[in-house]
Amino acid sequence: MYKYCQSCGMTMKRDEHGGGSNADGSRNTMYCSHCYRDGRFTVRNITVEDMKTRVRGQLKSVGFPGFVASFFTRNLHKLERWKIHTMAVE
Ligand SMILES: [Zn+2]
Repeated sequence: MYKYCQSCGMTMKRDEHGGGSNADGSRNTMYCSHCYRDGRFTVRNITVEDMKTRVRGQLKSVGFPGFVASFFTRNLHKLERWKIHTMAVE
């Protein structure tokens, strides 16, 4: 069980579904429900820099100041999804 979504870095505890879903309907505890549904990433063909921009935008839209949003996303590239490829095609 991962503490953070390995795609966007969100705390898994904050995920209302408790994780993403696999193709067979079982729960995926590596990625959150926003990133991973029915065995597929919801956003494909995205670079880690694009993901950082997305997450920063989402954090700001819910009221986090910019510096906090940047702090949250600064280590995004170390997550499992981005470890091997900085460009996630799947
Ligand atoms: Zn996620």
